[in-house]
Amino acid sequence: MNSDLTTGCPRRISILGSTGSIGKSTIDLIERDPDAYHVVALTANGSAEALAAQAIALKAEVAVVADPAAFVRLKEALAGSGIEAAAGPDAVREAAAREADWVMAAIVGAAGLEPTLAAVERGATVALANKECLVCAGDLFMAEVKRYGATLLPVDSEHNAIFQVFDFDRKDRIEKILLTASGGPFRDWSRDQMAVATPEQAIAHPNWSMGAKISVDSASMFNKGLEFIEAHHIFGLGADRIEILVHPQSVVHSMVAYVDGSVLAQLGSPDMRTPIAYSLAWPDRMVAPVPRLDFAALGRLDFRAPDPERFPAIRIVREALERGGGAPTAMNAANEVAVDRFLNREVGFLDIPVVVEETIEEIMSGPLGTQTVDRLDAVRAVDSEARIVAARRSARRRFAAA
Ligand code: NAD
Ligand code: MG
Repeated sequence: MNSDLTTGCPRRISILGSTGSIGKSTIDLIERDPDAYHVVALTANGSAEALAAQAIALKAEVAVVADPAAFVRLKEALAGSGIEAAAGPDAVREAAAREADWVMAAIVGAAGLEPTLAAVERGATVALANKECLVCAGDLFMAEVKRYGATLLPVDSEHNAIFQVFDFDRKDRIEKILLTASGGPFRDWSRDQMAVATPEQAIAHPNWSMGAKISVDSASMFNKGLEFIEAHHIFGLGADRIEILVHPQSVVHSMVAYVDGSVLAQLGSPDMRTPIAYSLAWPDRMVAPVPRLDFAALGRLDFRAPDPERFPAIRIVREALERGGGAPTAMNAANEVAVDRFLNREVGFLDIPVVVEETIEEIMSGPLGTQTVDRLDAVRAVDSEARIVAARRSARRRFAAA
């Protein structure tokens, strides 16, 4: 039982992005103990039927689609169920602001920022999968967590691993953290091979099953770059104390190195239900139906430094973090646009880092380049301008290639 230990009542939970990969894994866990949870809100973008089926199965109070065009389908699918239906970004935010003890933030992209902030502003326990929130508005987001006394539990497997072995009371005794990276499906590919990579090849991740955007990010290693910034904000460490290490087996999910030479790691099968279960049961632990590690069968664990020539994303992200201001916001927005164009076969795989770098340069040398992004309107301004620039830069590369 994972119900509230003090009252015995079911815990009130909401899942933002419930139809996605993380959302479904979260539901897989709560469905195993349905009496322990009362589901308040479920949200999705446009998958109205899938969302309605989840809401009915879980007896949710409200189901919300961000895309207003999906509202009629949602309403029809929920007819007679007594479940409230709503649509539009404001409705997603309002759903996130409803009274719930635990909120899974699993919307993909910067679109997750405002709904997640709505949960933070209620002082909720927020299980954070949506790393883009921290990349596009990390200072603002962490300041709000502090201000409203919200509890932030990282779900991203690396950050969840670090969280489990990070001594927050002895932070000065921590030398650095080591973020592991699988290297993605193109880990051993040449630049020539990557130049003609298809979306299907990019989303075929060797170890993890995930949504399309994060899968492409894993292939380009922008994912590790985004996680670098995510770790910087969650653990309050400078870039010089965060190292990235390629570890093809995805068994060591990340590590913390202490001043006495000790290195603590969290290990597990590559299954997101472990970090989700950790955040759902925290500070307790719950049984999770994941494959157990068999070390004898594994035999070995490999580690190597990432290759900056084949994967320029890590350098681009580091430079954006060093540059500060709106650079990480622009970088995140440009990457979202470029990944979308790549998935639509409008640009090549290797165009992604080029579009991102060109967009950061254009934004940071323009009028928005001198702005601080510690307010939501400033974040929005940089984000939307970077999307325009990235779309134009993507179109240019497309015509150049044609
Ligand atoms: P996904 O694409 O499978 O699901 C995304 C969810 O967000 C869906 O429910 C979708 O309907 C919703 N959504 C999309 N656009 C939206 C919008 N504009 N407004 C509101 N809702 C919208 O993605 P995922 O793989 O589940 O990843 C979700 C987040 O978790 C991402 O930020 C990702 O980086 C992070 N994450 C995922 C994994 C993983 O294993 N999948 C691991 C670590 C971190
Ligand atoms: Mg990760």
